[in-house]
Amino acid sequence: MIKSPRGTRDLLPPETALWNFVEAAVRDVFRAYNFHEIRTPIFESTELFARGVGEETDIVNKEMFENPPAELFTSYEGEVPDVIVRKAWLDQYGNRYTLVSQGLNEPFAVARRGDLTPSMMVFRYHMDACTLERMQTLERQQAELGLERLELTIAVPEWEEKEVRRLSPTVEVHSVKLPGWLDPRNAFTLRPENTAGIVRAYIEHKLWERGLNKFFSIGPMFRRERPQKGRYRQFYQIDAEVIGPPSSGSQSPVRDAEILELLATLLDRVGIANWTLVLNSVGCPADRAKFNEALREALAPVVDKMCVDCQRRAVTNPLRVFDCKVLADQPIIETLPTISQFLDEDCRMHYEQVKEILNAVAIPFVENPRLVRGLDYYQKTAFEFTHGALGAQNAILGGGRYDGLSEALGGPAAPGIGFAIGEDRLVLSLMEATPAEAVVRKPDVYIAPLGAGMNREAARLARELRRHDLVVELGDESFRPKKSIETADKMGSRYVLIVGGNEVAGDAFSLKHLASGEQVTVPRAELAQRISRK
Ligand code: AMP
Repeated sequence: MIKSPRGTRDLLPPETALWNFVEAAVRDVFRAYNFHEIRTPIFESTELFARGVGEETDIVNKEMFENPPAELFTSYEGEVPDVIVRKAWLDQYGNRYTLVSQGLNEPFAVARRGDLTPSMMVFRYHMDACTLERMQTLERQQAELGLERLELTIAVPEWEEKEVRRLSPTVEVHSVKLPGWLDPRNAFTLRPENTAGIVRAYIEHKLWERGLNKFFSIGPMFRRERPQKGRYRQFYQIDAEVIGPPSSGSQSPVRDAEILELLATLLDRVGIANWTLVLNSVGCPADRAKFNEALREALAPVVDKMCVDCQRRAVTNPLRVFDCKVLADQPIIETLPTISQFLDEDCRMHYEQVKEILNAVAIPFVENPRLVRGLDYYQKTAFEFTHGALGAQNAILGGGRYDGLSEALGGPAAPGIGFAIGEDRLVLSLMEATPAEAVVRKPDVYIAPLGAGMNREAARLARELRRHDLVVELGDESFRPKKSIETADKMGSRYVLIVGGNEVAGDAFSLKHLASGEQVTVPRAELAQRISRK
């Protein structure tokens, strides 16, 4: 039996009714706040997420569904001092590839067996004198290691041929046809989040010309996480982003407070009680630099007692230490300095004003100076909404301000703020109080055709009744009356309508109310009205 891939699931009725209910409510709320829908692709260039989410985040480091996979270019089977690092793998068609590296940080060669001779190499990076020299060393070492003999035939993928010839006019160059998915320009990733995609669209379509943009989107996201309750590899997010040029007021604390107030309204509207808004300001890049420095200092004496991830983070991006979920590390994390001590005047004022407006509109919140959010580009306001029922995975949603993101992606200054609600978790929280059955609209009437030739009469009646916004289900003329009634009862229909020869002749039909068992004869013209009555 073929099953759905690990970490994915089928959403089935009646649960899908809850999803529809949530999405309808959410759309209503967005309308009231003047947000409009944007739909961006489900996959984007890998580079977008590397730059837009941050190389040092878990999402980009560990969780992306990318093609070609990063491992292809970055992980090795074994290491030979200085020069050769090899990895062999098969592609989806069974072709064998070998990765050869110079032993620098950049693995650069991909050789494909089969249509290439074993010694041929395909270079991802350009060929220069230095590379040539390395190749000769490589050849010697290959021979010493007893690997296949290496001939200095230089093969490059078609898309690099011109560049390689320009750089190395004296070298014999062959162009090689490779599957398109190996072309770095075709490196795509299933979106792990949607902010980067929306900001890409903002830049691509020059949306600053429209002033302030208020977007929402609903759709699937993909992260290669270890699946558990409330955590999936394909999950759904409801996103909102407010973004525009500084002149549109996109930087104003009004926007932050509006987003937070909208979220409170939204959760109340879908029926999530007992949420907690957790708030922080993560400052601006200058504050962060000072804070990172202080963190590095504070971490230095203790970091060897922390998990390996934290040891790496302490060097590359100490702020990410706050993402750590390892229990044993928490007491150490508790002792670290917090960003609030490093906020400059502008960030502090901004944060104060957000809180003032929240107080004015009576939205309760708690502050958590260690809340940093999982992505690199956040600035100033950062927040999460949690809900008790979700246990360890208790954040239903998170978001914040990302004033530098557009520039990081090559666009103009475009301050923005947004959030992503985990729809799966929202529905999970909702299910406690609202069983899916409660929001499913059951059939109002089940039409039971009785005897030969009655299917078409039933279909005519169904068509008439459905025009009156009634939910109508149809039986089949081969069913016995008992079977029709049982079927109708099982699906929760309120009425059964009997369509037999006599009824058609008299243009009046037997209508049975299933709960009470009461049966009446109703003229065709009055049926819709009668069934509509609750
Ligand atoms: P993030 O983009 O990581 O801030 O996530 C925003 C929200 O999406 C979280 O608060 C969760 O509710 C939800 N979420 C994130 N990752 C997953 C996942 N793997 N499965 C289900 N929901 C998720």
